[in-house]
Amino acid sequence: MSSRNQRLIEKLKKVNNLEIIERPSDVKRLSKDFYNYSPILDKKLDGCIADLVVRPIDRNAVVKVAEICWEFSIPLTLRGAGTGNYGQAVPLFKGIVMQMNLLNKLEEYYPDTGFVKVQSGCLMGHLNKQLEKYDRELRLLPSTWKTATIGGFIAGGSGGIGSIRWGFLRDPGNLIGLEAVTINEEPKLIRFNAEESEPLNHAYGTNGIITSLIIATDIKRKWYSLVIDCEDLHKAIEILKTCVIAAIDLKLGAILEDDIVDQMPIWFKGQSKSHKILIQSTLGGIKTIELICKKQKVVPTLLGEEDQLINGISDVVWNHTTLHMRAKDKNWTYLQMLLPLEKEFELITSMRKKWGKKILWHIEAVSQQGVPRLAALPVLKWHNEEQLNQIIVNCKNLGAIIFNPHVVTVEGGGLGVIDSDQVKAKLKFDPKGLLNPGKLEGWKIKDEYDF
Ligand SMILES: Cc1cc2nc3c(=O)[nH]c(=O)nc-3n(C[C@H](O)[C@H](O)[C@H](O)COP(=O)(O)OP(=O)(O)OC[C@H]3O[C@@H](n4cnc5c(N)ncnc54)[C@H](O)[C@@H]3O)c2cc1C
Repeated sequence: MSSRNQRLIEKLKKVNNLEIIERPSDVKRLSKDFYNYSPILDKKLDGCIADLVVRPIDRNAVVKVAEICWEFSIPLTLRGAGTGNYGQAVPLFKGIVMQMNLLNKLEEYYPDTGFVKVQSGCLMGHLNKQLEKYDRELRLLPSTWKTATIGGFIAGGSGGIGSIRWGFLRDPGNLIGLEAVTINEEPKLIRFNAEESEPLNHAYGTNGIITSLIIATDIKRKWYSLVIDCEDLHKAIEILKTCVIAAIDLKLGAILEDDIVDQMPIWFKGQSKSHKILIQSTLGGIKTIELICKKQKVVPTLLGEEDQLINGISDVVWNHTTLHMRAKDKNWTYLQMLLPLEKEFELITSMRKKWGKKILWHIEAVSQQGVPRLAALPVLKWHNEEQLNQIIVNCKNLGAIIFNPHVVTVEGGGLGVIDSDQVKAKLKFDPKGLLNPGKLEGWKIKDEYDF
């Protein structure tokens, strides 16, 4: 170990309420996330391992770590639960990984607004459970909600179960404020209101260390899960769209094509080989869905109240669909896209003509800026990078908006454009560029522009 690293560790050991993890196998494990869903990232990120991992137990320890990283000019990469898919929490340039999971308390519930203030390392499953006593629940959940942290979701996720109604995390109204520690000459805890929080929302922890968040919650409802078998994919899409625009409460609406259904766990796939529409609604809403099904001559199966099911449909949607496909064959990977409005089936038909069953379709109903849309997380058999890029180009040419899960930067996984506010926030709160270096594309060209 270099004398610099020794001095660094000595300083860290003097910090109160800070766990230090040096065992190489633990440091390696805590330097990884689920980037292996992408064969491209798997190759790129395999050797990226931190020097050590720390776990702060309170905010003061967070400030102290920021001071030490500033003094030693050492990279600092934040980690929640490490369930991200694009290597968001992987330290590209070694340094320290700081896992936030011990900062995990619900700090305050605001009855007038339904907002909740929670520490960033709180597991979403625990948070949702605690919200029950206020008759509230989280609006948006990734399918990893049982294991992922709320801070990691805001900093690295996008949407999921609930997006059918509440859109995506960056939509105004979902994140109300946050507290974050800076890493500059004098690291300190700053409070950000909703507008000031925007640049830190989905920034992969590149421009502030989030310690608490204030988020909006929804009234707790009993969600019932229902599955509809449908032999015609076009008809399945039309039924889902009809359900989405009906005057009912919905938490989830998805379609898995038959060859995907075939790879799902035995409890889900049942006997018949058909496409499946998956819906979560209230008991009242189910009545309307049953009527829609009757008109369309399809038969719905009510599975029961999602929370009471041993296996709920939340476990086979969003990227959990890909998880189950990969459990069968590690050569499956995936893409994420917003399908072109009213031309969803046209895109799927064109892609099927060109690529056949190399691409299997998984659709999720979402709200995009208030408009009901269909997103897709198709799974594809990995061949090579050239073929993947060709598929991306084909989908773009047919009008899809791609959110590429095979790149490590904030911009690459999003709309591909630099958000100058994110770069400005990094210049102010992390002027040495120590936070999660290599993940913010805009930082690399900061000198070329007047941010
Ligand atoms: C099977 C599977 C299904 C998934 N489904 C979904 C889904 O439905 N929707 C979705 O959006 N995502 C999904 N994901 C991705 C991921 O699970 C979620 O985004 C999750 O919310 C990330 O939380 P985490 O605690 O694991 O964060 P991590 O992976 O640990 O971190 C994510 C990012 O946030 C940063 N970060 C963490 N904590 C902080 C902090 N306190 N301050 C600042 N930055 C911080 C990290 O540096 C990293 O860049 C899925 C992943 C898998 C493997």
